[in-house]
Amino acid sequence: MGKEAMERTVVRCAEGHLFSTATFPLQNLGPERIGPGRLIRCPLCARLRSSVPADLGTLTDDQIRLALRREAVEFLA
Ligand SMILES: [Zn+2]
Repeated sequence: MGKEAMERTVVRCAEGHLFSTATFPLQNLGPERIGPGRLIRCPLCARLRSSVPADLGTLTDDQIRLALRREAVEFLA
């Protein structure tokens, strides 16, 4: 795993898609959160999905590389 993986959080949406975000707001979990995840606009679903940080240990290098290329741009905090 390279440095790149440490600068972004790889997340998995409720549909199982992998993508990444630079600012997964782990420190700001509020009452609006759903379950253990955050609502993030999944680039593959093209809609807000409850997403959780992915366990990088369970992913292949290819999966991580692909996820790092797909970056979520919007949050609903
Ligand atoms: Zn998705």
